[in-house]
Amino acid sequence: MVKDELLSLVDKGEMLPLMEEFYTIQGEGFHKGTAAYFVRIGGCDVGCHWCDVKESWNANLHPPTAVASIVENAAKYSNTIVVTGGEPLTWNMNPLTNGLKNKGLDIHIETSGAYPLTGEWDWICLSPKKMKLPLAEVYEKANELKMIIYNQNDFKFAEEQASKVSDSCILYLQPEWSKREKMIPEIVDYVMKNPKWKVSLQTHKYLNIP
Ligand code: SF4
Repeated sequence: MVKDELLSLVDKGEMLPLMEEFYTIQGEGFHKGTAAYFVRIGGCDVGCHWCDVKESWNANLHPPTAVASIVENAAKYSNTIVVTGGEPLTWNMNPLTNGLKNKGLDIHIETSGAYPLTGEWDWICLSPKKMKLPLAEVYEKANELKMIIYNQNDFKFAEEQASKVSDSCILYLQPEWSKREKMIPEIVDYVMKNPKWKVSLQTHKYLNIP
């Protein structure tokens, strides 16, 4: 396929820069402990300094992959599919979620919400980042809000973000992994004083699974 043709298919969301896909256990947030097939899409310009998947940022490093092939692989492994990145909403997610829905699968997304919400989702995990705030439409539709706590200032940011989501959105505070020893006691204390929040941990890292 010539380069222009490939780019046009990526533009339409019929091909996506796939970084990796794997079957594992969702470690974080509301669905922690659930077996799920992860589809990690390359491309992100949000620029979190503590990002643990910096290899995902440059979409050009990840081969444009036909959505039909991602769907076929996913359907072999699990009823629960987690689309993550990178920032998956960099791309048009409609063809991917149409394909997954046609197979009757439950589709979750993990997003910073910084780009327009494409695709049809059964669960939206919104994790806002200060450098590029979510769009209004993503706040409205988020099922869970996952705030990463790197330092004390992040509690204030978390409250600002919580004021923008719907009443039914479930609120999580999750320590940034490299700061977990320092921040876990502060998060525990904060949640006991502010019980609208729940604690989320990256349990997959404790389990030594991807
Ligand atoms: S939004 Fe996610 S993928 Fe992008 S830089 Fe931040 S943590 Fe990394």
